[in-house]
Amino acid sequence: MKLPIVCIIGRPNVGKSSLFNRILGRRAAVVSDRDGVTRDRHYQNAIYKGHEFTVVDTGGFLPDDSIDVLADSVRAQIFNAVNEADLVLFMVDIRVGITKLDQQFARLIRKLDKKVILVANKSELQGDRQESYEFLKLGFGQPRTVSALTGYACLSLLDEVVSVLPTPVRGERREERPVRFAILGRPNAGKSTLLNRLLNEDRAVVSDIPGTTRDSIDCDFVVDGQKFVVTDTAGLRKKARVEDEVEVFSNMRTLESIRRSDLSVLVVDCTRGMEIQDYRIITEIRKAGKGLVVVLNKWDILPNKNDKSFDHMVKELLEREPMLEFVPILSISAKEGQRVGRVIQAIQTVYANCRRVLGRDRVAESFANFLQEKAPPSHNGRVVMLTRACQIMVEPPVIDIETRTPELVDESYKRYLLKKFYDEFQLQGAPLRLNFDRKL
Ligand code: GDP
Ligand code: GDP
Repeated sequence: MKLPIVCIIGRPNVGKSSLFNRILGRRAAVVSDRDGVTRDRHYQNAIYKGHEFTVVDTGGFLPDDSIDVLADSVRAQIFNAVNEADLVLFMVDIRVGITKLDQQFARLIRKLDKKVILVANKSELQGDRQESYEFLKLGFGQPRTVSALTGYACLSLLDEVVSVLPTPVRGERREERPVRFAILGRPNAGKSTLLNRLLNEDRAVVSDIPGTTRDSIDCDFVVDGQKFVVTDTAGLRKKARVEDEVEVFSNMRTLESIRRSDLSVLVVDCTRGMEIQDYRIITEIRKAGKGLVVVLNKWDILPNKNDKSFDHMVKELLEREPMLEFVPILSISAKEGQRVGRVIQAIQTVYANCRRVLGRDRVAESFANFLQEKAPPSHNGRVVMLTRACQIMVEPPVIDIETRTPELVDESYKRYLLKKFYDEFQLQGAPLRLNFDRKL
């Protein structure tokens, strides 16, 4: 299914990234990385009132010093972005008025026959809003006055956006994309053994793809027509020397693998249990908004094993890290090949869960039921009202919960809702987030 595309354009500093982040409902949408501009960073999927669409922030194409003129190369990039868009949000700054660059953008947009909404940003002050008629001269009608900073009129802008977007054609296939995962864990947990199993077991076509960091190697294979890529296998395929293990496990490297993958498989030696680094990895994966599967490896040599061992071990893990309640945990033996096929199944399930679009009505209905089953506790006699729940993002799934008093929502109640959403929508392994947003 190809999603409709909304492209945000405008000169530097009008507030494109701020609006982009507001639409995506999270401030951290733009990762502050130094290594240049990646395409992904500017193309993000968003969902509003059940409408899914892709938002493109063209900000990254523009050098900050493009004050008067658009360089040809930049112009071409913006032209392409606008060309593939279904809707253009043309942003201007109400406090600055029309500039030369705004006029150049206007000319560029007019060449393409696209739906355009003119957005006059930084309109949080009523006095400023009265200046908006000036922008009629740009030829795109009356601008919508909004403030990306305070959120003023952003929701009505979004309402308008989704009302003009074409409905995506169901049945049209999404872009075929391999599932990317990392195999993480402490030295000797059995990561290489598992990787080799996965590669051989499935009679996979194995090829090495150079990764982005120096000497990181990605590896791809196919199971039942589904393509998988294991990221950063350099240290795994060519067994790292002992002195390298510290490096293989180094934070940077682990973080990089997490970031480049859709999900991670954390391999734990069950005879040793989880240790501090494992918990740290879990925290990082959640922070990065990525999926997780935990495998308890070397099950073949677990001493004094009986039919309660697995439940017992899982219980212990949950006591230490409650988030694991929402993560698939498997016991395997990579060496013997026991239940290794399940790892692939779990990876597929978690990947699908991370990308799940939860129906708008079902979210609202389930949310009402959760509230009815257990009302939010009042805080020092003040009633806590939660008014609306809505999925605002996929990959990772984020549900926005509106309230006038986000600071008064009890932690254990947040946990209650989180569990309810996980169970109701079967989101195991996905990094579901609940956003308690102040109702504007
Ligand atoms: P971009 O270059 O178009 O992506 O602009 P940014 O989103 O980076 O915003 C540029 C500056 O304008 C930042 O300092 C923002 O904090 C500020 N800004 C963005 N939106 C608003 C707004 O609605 N009101 C005000 N007053 N400032 C804003
Ligand atoms: P890595 O450092 O995490 O890549 O770990 P390796 O895959 O190199 O495995 C470390 C050691 O554990 C090797 O001697 C493996 O043969 C052994 N090993 C790995 N998986 C299993 C397993 O499932 N059962 C047993 N008994 N040994 C295993």
